[in-house]
Amino acid sequence: MNSIYLIPFGTIDPDVIAPLEVCLWQVFGYDVKRLPALAEPEGAFTPATGQWNSTLLLKELLRVKPTDAVRVLGITEHDLFIPMLSFVFGHAQLNGPAAVISLARLRQEFYRLPVNPALFHHRAMKEAVHELGHTFGLIHCADTRCSMSLSNGIRQVDQKEAELCTDCSHLFESSMEHNRRTNGMERI
Ligand SMILES: [Zn+2]
Ligand SMILES: [Zn+2]
Repeated sequence: MNSIYLIPFGTIDPDVIAPLEVCLWQVFGYDVKRLPALAEPEGAFTPATGQWNSTLLLKELLRVKPTDAVRVLGITEHDLFIPMLSFVFGHAQLNGPAAVISLARLRQEFYRLPVNPALFHHRAMKEAVHELGHTFGLIHCADTRCSMSLSNGIRQVDQKEAELCTDCSHLFESSMEHNRRTNGMERI
């Protein structure tokens, strides 16, 4: 049975991971499993900005991806960047097996606001759905409440829900249907 695997980089609070497992199962319909934590690849750290290169974290995820993984999602506390972008909440391979999200900018404390664990957990779910949505071939959505809408800042994250809009759900379902057909599953 194919599963989505969650892979922490370093120590990630289990209270963040548990609600992600439920949410991702509800949205994508795959079993969600956890793998032991990985160390961040050393070369990914950029001392000048204190950030980590998300592309190198994706490479590390691909290296350890289990054979029955339909997708792998890395979770890091570190702030991530892609060259040319000052920061990213996450990074995914479009139609590829790996994605990673950063928790660094999802806490209220990052914006010097009072701690709000419920809001933090909800934001992590939205970003996890967003990045995994990309791995399933979904692109950015114009519906600001849809998880697939683009977030350049935390306000846009807060506008969206931890679920796909009707259009994106249909696109996801039809791409799954296409995969089933091309894999010959209909003959079983
Ligand atoms: Zn995106
Ligand atoms: Zn949408």
